Amino acid sequence: MRNDPFGRGRQDPRGAQRRGLFGNVRWWVLLAFAGYAAFYWFSNRVVDPYTGEKVLIDGSIGIEEEKALGLQAYQEILSQERPLDPNSQVARQVREIARRLIDKVGVVEAAIAAEHGQQPNGAWKTFDWDVNVIQSDQANAFCLPGGKMAVYTGLLPVAQNADAVAVVMGHEIAHALLRHGAQRMSQQKLTQIGQMAGAMSGMDPQQQQMVMAAMGYGYLLPYARSHETQADEVGLMLAAAACFNPQEAVPLWQRMGEASGGQAPPEFSSTHPNPGTRIQNLTALMPKAMAYRQKFCESAQ
Ligand SMILES: [Zn+2]
Repeated sequence: MRNDPFGRGRQDPRGAQRRGLFGNVRWWVLLAFAGYAAFYWFSNRVVDPYTGEKVLIDGSIGIEEEKALGLQAYQEILSQERPLDPNSQVARQVREIARRLIDKVGVVEAAIAAEHGQQPNGAWKTFDWDVNVIQSDQANAFCLPGGKMAVYTGLLPVAQNADAVAVVMGHEIAHALLRHGAQRMSQQKLTQIGQMAGAMSGMDPQQQQMVMAAMGYGYLLPYARSHETQADEVGLMLAAAACFNPQEAVPLWQRMGEASGGQAPPEFSSTHPNPGTRIQNLTALMPKAMAYRQKFCESAQ
């Protein structure tokens, strides 16, 4: 029993009943890991120019590495799915919407950063933008780190018009601009530190699961939701600046809610804000979006 890595062999089995829910846990191990997690957290905080907030981005995840991962994922997805002929009418229309949005990334980033007293980081200048349309019933779209995008044909009947497609694509582009992928990877690393701490401190799998579930509800899910709210805002400003009608966002998300009927595709599933809250947020943002439209679209013509 001496080789039992968790040392439980030396414990009195009858004592286990009296020790309470986490009585078998070696707290000093958890404390040491908590110290390491705190160090990781504080040494990897950077200010996000789009929100003015400090966010966790692992310093070892560079833009180039993030781009390489994005490209790899993109190639994998395209090899498994059925991309439309790039010369088809739908593919050309979607590409044109993307082009108009991408054209305004620089001015919108600068304007939003200025609102928060920040300098734009210009990470998007290194992006190799690309967009494909994928034949699929899913009402979905994505933009990977580095600017590789896809729109699923199932989105088009729900979107109904180019303005709504632009709102969705703007939202997806915003995830890439805000480096939400790198933030998620950093967060996963923090979660792994937590899992290792759980295992090494002698928690049994059931206890570890309880802790992870609490972390999921208390930390990971709200975090994912705040990413969605941020992407909604930046995406709406992009669409408005690119001369699309931002007011299409509200009926779009209403239709999206109806179309998904509880079976939303991954990007628009439970990590997304409750549809009512989302529509409230978007409605509150509309005056700002109209101001962006006037400033960057109408005055530019
Ligand atoms: Zn999203």
